[in-house]
Amino acid sequence: MEPFLGAGYGNPSAMYELSRQASDALDEARRTVAELLGCRPNDIIFNSGGTESINAAIKGVAFAQQLAGGGHHIITSSVEHHAVLHSCEYLEKFGFEITYLDVDGHGLVDPEAVAAAVRTDTVLVSLMLANNEVGTVEPVAASSEAVRARARALGKVIPFHCDAVQAPGYLPVNVGALGVDLLSLSAHKFGGPKGVGVLYLDRSAPYLPLMSGGGQERQRRAGTENVAGIVGTAAALSLAFAHQEKAAAHTARLRDRIIEDVPRSVEHVVLNGHPTQRLPNNVNLSFLGLEGDALVEALDEQGIAVGSGSACGSGSWEPSHVLLAMGLSLERAAGALRITVADETTDAEIDRLLSVLPGIVANLRQQPVAV
Ligand code: PLP
Repeated sequence: MEPFLGAGYGNPSAMYELSRQASDALDEARRTVAELLGCRPNDIIFNSGGTESINAAIKGVAFAQQLAGGGHHIITSSVEHHAVLHSCEYLEKFGFEITYLDVDGHGLVDPEAVAAAVRTDTVLVSLMLANNEVGTVEPVAASSEAVRARARALGKVIPFHCDAVQAPGYLPVNVGALGVDLLSLSAHKFGGPKGVGVLYLDRSAPYLPLMSGGGQERQRRAGTENVAGIVGTAAALSLAFAHQEKAAAHTARLRDRIIEDVPRSVEHVVLNGHPTQRLPNNVNLSFLGLEGDALVEALDEQGIAVGSGSACGSGSWEPSHVLLAMGLSLERAAGALRITVADETTDAEIDRLLSVLPGIVANLRQQPVAV
């Protein structure tokens, strides 16, 4: 990235030599990302992150189809990231109807239910590849195949979008194997810089750009490209793909150490998400009778950074929509703790977590909680 943060500051859309260096770097990054994902370079759009990719995919396809009189029904699941759910809620204000599919107790969507939800006015299906809270890996390939068969029977083509933000580096990601027409990624989730996103948009998908302005990204995303960020994104994605199998094996072993050890040393703990069909780097445990946020704070004091299953805002506690959609109790949602391990996480770090956690839980369980 460094050359493009310093002397190579040219604007890729300008005409001078410095700009050619930037536009060549952009082309190369696009080719790299396309080759890794299994698509054509021109089907790759760079933007500002996972949220923008998802907004552009969902609103872009929906509005393009609405303009063409194609219908106004969208199918998604109830455990999607808020970038998907809130984009869908936004579209409801413009007359779109959304089917939010139920999931089972492990957070899994049923591919047959996805296909069964297809209507003659369906314009888009959006399903995540792996859940960011509970790690459950969704049957995207089976769902896209089932939707294609159902759409064919109705004489339709229905674009399929996949939020694959959690996958690179830990799961294989190939747009052909997944059978998707649009796919969203966020660079910082695979070791790249924050604030860069990738949208794969098959040229056959109807699309109305979200941003208006210049003609960058082949008229599909106006605004001067973040050249350094994009170069870093392509480099990070290459590394993530090259190390994926090794990283998945390493993190799965650390993940399973946590999943097996914690219930031995702490009472009243349950695993959330699918026991096997889950991200290799994700653990989500509920400590019954406790608040996940209190655990997060206590672990932070020990230099251990983890997440809870809730969103805290203006003093009010919001349970995770994912855990509630899975049919879990409020107590289980309140006590959820999300622990993410990475390629560089060591056994010694897991030893430390496992040694401090029982004492922290015992200490907190002695304090009264209001759930
Ligand atoms: N989708 C999923 C599954 C995520 O986990 C995230 C971020 O955590 C996003 C979308 C949004 O990505 P970004 O924060 O880069 O906009």
